[in-house]
This record gives sequence, C-alpha cells and structure tokens, in this order.
Amino acid sequence: MANIKRPNGTEDILPSVSRDWQNLERMLREIADVYGFREIRVPTFEQTDLFCRSVGETTDVVQKEMYTVTAKESTFTLRPEGTAGTIRAMLQNGLLNEALPQRVFYILSCFRHERPQAGRLREFHQFGVEMAGSASAFADAEVISLAKQIIDMVGIKGIALYINSIGCPHCRKEYHKALQEYFASSKDQLCETCLSRLEKNPMRILDCKSPVCSEIAKDAPVILDYLCEDCSTHFEQLKKNLTMLGIDYQVNPKIVRGLDYYTKTVFEFVTTDIGAQGTVCGGGRYDGLIGQLGGPETPALGFGMGLERLLLTLRNQGVILSEEESCDIYLVPMGEAAAEKAFALTSALRQEGISAQTDVMGRSLRAQMKYADKINAKFTIVIGDNEIADGLADVKNMKTGEKTRIALTDTFAENFSTLLLDSLFAGDSMDELF
Ligand code: ATP
Ligand code: MG
Repeated sequence: MANIKRPNGTEDILPSVSRDWQNLERMLREIADVYGFREIRVPTFEQTDLFCRSVGETTDVVQKEMYTVTAKESTFTLRPEGTAGTIRAMLQNGLLNEALPQRVFYILSCFRHERPQAGRLREFHQFGVEMAGSASAFADAEVISLAKQIIDMVGIKGIALYINSIGCPHCRKEYHKALQEYFASSKDQLCETCLSRLEKNPMRILDCKSPVCSEIAKDAPVILDYLCEDCSTHFEQLKKNLTMLGIDYQVNPKIVRGLDYYTKTVFEFVTTDIGAQGTVCGGGRYDGLIGQLGGPETPALGFGMGLERLLLTLRNQGVILSEEESCDIYLVPMGEAAAEKAFALTSALRQEGISAQTDVMGRSLRAQMKYADKINAKFTIVIGDNEIADGLADVKNMKTGEKTRIALTDTFAENFSTLLLDSLFAGDSMDELF
C-alpha cells in the first residue's frame, strides 16, 4: 500500500487547506446568489459525443486531453469542462422552457490529460456560470462583472481583464480565408496538429501552445478587422457597458480561447503572479451552442474559473482566506472516573454546538496540555478526583490565564456557553461572533 501514490496531476486537499476551499466556495455561492445565479450539479461523466460536438473536434481538449473510459459496452468521457454538461442538462430538463434568462452556476471537478505543472492539473476544479436567453451586451457585462467581483472579494490584486470578439460564423468565413492565406507560406513549419487545423479551423492555430506555431502566428490577421456589423456593434456596446461599471479592460485581439463554441465576446482574467499558467478565468458568449446540441436557437454565455489557480495566486500574494483553526474548550481528565465525567461533559457541550474535545489517548496531564495548545483550545478545564468530589472545577482562559469556577452539573454546557460569549465580547475577536 505504501507504494501506491496518487495519480500524476491530481491533488489531495488536506484538512490544513480545506478550510480555504470552504471559505472560497462560500464566497462564490454568496456572490452567485447576489447576481441571481442558482446552483446546478451535473454528472462527472457524459457521452463522449457531447464534448466532441460542443468543445470541438479540432481543439486541444478533444484531440489530446480527454479521459475516455469504457465500462462494459458503453463509452463515456470525464468532463473536461462544465459548460457542455450544463447545457445538456438544461435542455434535457426543459429549463429553457422556463422564464428566461436562465442563470446557473456550478462548482465541479474537471479532467484533462495535460502535462502537469504548477497551476495545470489533470483533475482541477472550476467555478463556472452559464446564462442563457439574452443576446444583449448587458448580459456580457453582467457575467464579466460577476467574475470581477469574485476576484476583488477574495482579495486578488493585479489581475488584468482582456476582452476580444471572435465574431460569428458569418464574419469568420472571411477571416478563415485570410488566416489560410497567411499561414500558407509557413505550412511546413507548423506542428502536425496545426497543419490539420489549417483546413478545418485555422483560428485554432492562434491558440497553439507550441513556441514555433505561436511565433509564426505573431503577425497573423486579427479577427477584429473582419467583424460583421452586428458583431462589431455588440463589441462596442460591451466596451461601453464595462466602462459604465468602472471595470478596466484591455482589448486583446490574440485571445481566441481553447473551446470551439465561442462566438462574439471572449474574455480572460490573467495574473502574472503564478507564472505561465496565469489565466485564472476564461469565458465568453456561445450563441450557437444550444442550437448545435439540438435545442432551440438560444444566445448564451458564461465563464469557467480555475479554483486551484485562484488559490495559488492568493497564496503567492500572501492573502489569508481562513483564520487559524481553534477549539472552544479542551477537557483534561485525570484518572478513570474523571475520564467518564469529561467524556459526558464533552458530549453535552457538543450538543450545545460548542466545539469541545477531551482525551481519547490516555495521555498524561502534560501531554494533554500540549495537545490542547496544538489544537488552539480557547479554554481548558482540568477534572480530577477532587473536582468530581466538589462538583466544581476551574475553566481556564488560555489567552488571559483567567480562571472561572464552574459547576460540573447538568447546566455545565449552558454556563460555559455564557462564559464563552462573555469572553468573545470582552476580547478583541468580536468578528468570530458574527
Ligand atoms: P489554458 O490556456 O491555460 O490551457 P484553457 O483555455 O484550456 O486554459 P478553459 O478551458 O477556458 O481553459 O478553462 C477555464 C479555466 O479553467 C482556465 O482559465 C483555468 O483557470 C482553468 N484550467 C483549465 N485547464 C486547467 C488545468 N489543466 N489545471 C488547472 N486549471 C485549469
Ligand atoms: Mg488548456
């Protein structure tokens, strides 16, 4: 067993950091709620075809990164992203027949077979939102503003917002032609994948991670010069809306995003604090996707935010998400009779919602005090034969050293609760109360 390790590119989220995850997820849920997004939970695996048809046959995700599993006679793929499954679920359950727009969010794990490195995992987590029904540039600004509010609220600094428009199938026709002409001269230098993309989907070449391909693509024509009137007006409106909301942005015509379903608006929030994998959030509009998956033509948009990258950035910037963990009271029994008493009192405290622990290791007084210190106990109470005989013991405030006599009766938990509240009011840790 000792030799079995977790798979490459996966992470164990240990108790020492899971509190950060919980706090982050709580904030995400709160902000999503403020914007009217409701949670959706979809399966971890879907029919492979769903991702081929939505993410796109010529993307890295579908060509290289999918985990496809065969069980008995069926084949499925572990979701590489959240949008496809979410839209599939909305369609299958008739959510688009309800009042529009539909706003949903999710927190889920994604699976991509990539080369693991800092900020690039094979199992990672995304917070994502999808909004279906609105073609308005207000919707684009709303979704971008939601991502921005999350980034501000968790306390990340120095993140840039890049926006672009990659047009619609109409304006992309001309653009594809221009790209094919541009790349034709350097055909033999392109990587094999890009060579096949040149015919089918030349815009994908702009998203290739190979240094050779990106160098060739450096001076490629930009889509912004090819936008049709509708796409161009939409982009102008988005820019106006962002300015109105006081959201700083930079137009970056190089951003095409790694998934095929995008149309018009695409955007990324990028940090330079975690090295090369700096895109913390990526998203955009996908007006064709719902129709493509067999639903009614419905404009929609969303984003996915990489939670590992978000937490990594926070850590590198020294932002603290969680307070140090502590326990309200540790009961220190001395002897067998005391152990039973302490065990019963601990249980009574827990029934009152007070976090309490007592010895289950048969430790000495000294070793117990050391443990109490380690778990950051706010109070301790030593219970020995004398305390049991008197029915009274001293509760010690570990911060001030102050001792308070307390009866070891049925009202113990209630009395301690009052003491705990008083100490919180008296101390400087008021916010722990609220
Ligand atoms: P990249 O260009 O970094 O590969 P992508 O374009 O593949 O990103 P999306 O598919 O748009 O990314 O996913 C949205 C977000 O999910 C990314 O911005 C990133 O924060 C996160 N993400 C994507 N792939 C990974 C991964 N392998 N490990 C950790 N986070 C990831
Ligand atoms: Mg990728």
